[in-house]
Amino acid sequence: MVESDLHTHTLYSDGSASPEEMVRSALSLGVKKLGISDHGYTSFDESYCMKKSAVSSYLREIGALKEKYKGEIEILAGVEWDLFSEGDIKAFDYAIGSVHYLKVGGEYIPVDESPSLLVSACEKYFSGDFYALTDRYYQEVAALAEIPTVSIVGHFDLIKKFNEKERLFPESDPRYVASWKRAADALLQKRKAFEINTGAMHRGYLSTPYPSKNVFEYLKDRGAKFTFGSDSHSPSTIGYLPPETEKEYDL
Ligand SMILES: [Zn+2]
Ligand SMILES: [Zn+2]
Repeated sequence: MVESDLHTHTLYSDGSASPEEMVRSALSLGVKKLGISDHGYTSFDESYCMKKSAVSSYLREIGALKEKYKGEIEILAGVEWDLFSEGDIKAFDYAIGSVHYLKVGGEYIPVDESPSLLVSACEKYFSGDFYALTDRYYQEVAALAEIPTVSIVGHFDLIKKFNEKERLFPESDPRYVASWKRAADALLQKRKAFEINTGAMHRGYLSTPYPSKNVFEYLKDRGAKFTFGSDSHSPSTIGYLPPETEKEYDL
């Protein structure tokens, strides 16, 4: 069981429960520190993120919960900041930096929506070369190193979401490895922390967390700090961490 879960979503973005419902669930699950990290605003896709005008009530509402549950659980008002988010990142207690889109040809292509969308974007923009696409993804991930307020890198290898059993590409391919290592090195240099994110596990996409074990080992060997994030969009999955994952990642 984890004591700290720093990646959760509420009704302020694409979650299904209020901040207080998330807090009460965290309490009942024995979590001692809960970070609420709703999605930062992206003007080109308003479907899933927090409205700019909602930030002040978000901070106020979570602020009131901090007081109400003082002594029982530590609560933080964070944000999951997309590389292309807009607004005041400094308004939050902390920021997780994430890449959810590839920006190509003036389009923003979501990387975690569906495998068919990724495959067609690969045909359209990368001549069908999947490693050119994954390289673009990791170039964007590396750019998170340049956002000083970002302290945690969210789901570092989200691009593998639809790659269970290496359906789309072998992760051992040298081009893929070179791409993620470049991003990892840039982020390590700026002392960013990385999260162990189990979101795709409890949603049934992957049997392993982000990042993959070999990526985790690479980061760990270079002194990376890690946080835990369930990426919960509902109360029941807060702190989700199967015992075998806990053991494998030495959490
Ligand atoms: Zn995310
Ligand atoms: Zn998230």
